[in-house]
Amino acid sequence: MPEGKIIKALSGFYYVLDGENVIQCRGRGVFRLNKVNPLVGDSVVYQAENPTDGYILEVKDRKNELVRPPIANIDQAILVFSAVEPDFSTALLDRFLALIEDNEVEPIICISKMDLLQESKIQEIEKYIADYKKTGYAVITTSSKTNEGIEKLQPYLQGKTSVFAGQSGVGKSSLLNAMKPELKLKTNDISSHLGRGKHTTRHVELIHVGSGLVADTPGFSSLDFLEMEAERLSYCFPEIYQTGERCKFRGCLHDKEPKCAVKEAVESGEIPQYRYNHYLQFLEEIKDRKPRY
Ligand code: GDP
Ligand code: ZN
Repeated sequence: MPEGKIIKALSGFYYVLDGENVIQCRGRGVFRLNKVNPLVGDSVVYQAENPTDGYILEVKDRKNELVRPPIANIDQAILVFSAVEPDFSTALLDRFLALIEDNEVEPIICISKMDLLQESKIQEIEKYIADYKKTGYAVITTSSKTNEGIEKLQPYLQGKTSVFAGQSGVGKSSLLNAMKPELKLKTNDISSHLGRGKHTTRHVELIHVGSGLVADTPGFSSLDFLEMEAERLSYCFPEIYQTGERCKFRGCLHDKEPKCAVKEAVESGEIPQYRYNHYLQFLEEIKDRKPRY
């Protein structure tokens, strides 16, 4: 039986991409009984009645699943953070990074609107870029106005399923348009924003950008740590996790023990102070959420 990937779900039909072809499929009745809810991004086994129509027979196991937008098997998230308008925020970036690490999705940091960055602020941004690269993250600087970095971003999408994530107004739609002008996604001025999102439809679709697939709706808008356990948080900060392996205190959350390896690495400058501060801040949020015994 042939296999493909759901790239769109609409009005009871699933559009299954198999090579170059898209087959309009219905789900099997037993899916409803078994509560199988096929999602965009799912790998499926289907049966075609003719070149354009068929049935989904089986949904393969998912490697991950997002709630907003509802999509499965994401390989990576392009985290778009503007250099200015709004100003670059490591606090918000670290929050997104932790959330994405928790979902086992590969983050790529994209610093947008570089054309608006004042000369005097360049050094500050470059320091952050160096820090995040040292942590192991890919960082790309872009401008949709000058096309800076667009060719650098494109290769990251090849052969992958990606979502663009980040605050409203940072330039996600503009970046997608810069990579694929025929998309003509609507872009928004924050100043003229009326509180109504551009993405008024709830349906999500994977679109071809180069040889990759990209969700046309941004993801990871939920920014709380509802599900995460305190012990899990260090895993979401790669440099804290790695250093934590050397920490001699069992079950250490790297917050209290004075001789904790992570604290020492922060003191020596090996781990940036702001990353550690954000780690502590998120840890508090997680602890506050739970009853303490
Ligand atoms: P989204 O909400 O993240 O999709 O952001 P948009 O792509 O709608 O962009 C929000 C606003 O920022 C729009 O007015 C864009 O024209 C502007 N913008 C986006 N990217 C850039 C950029 O690289 N440089 C400049 N100067 N403005 C940009
Ligand atoms: Zn420790």
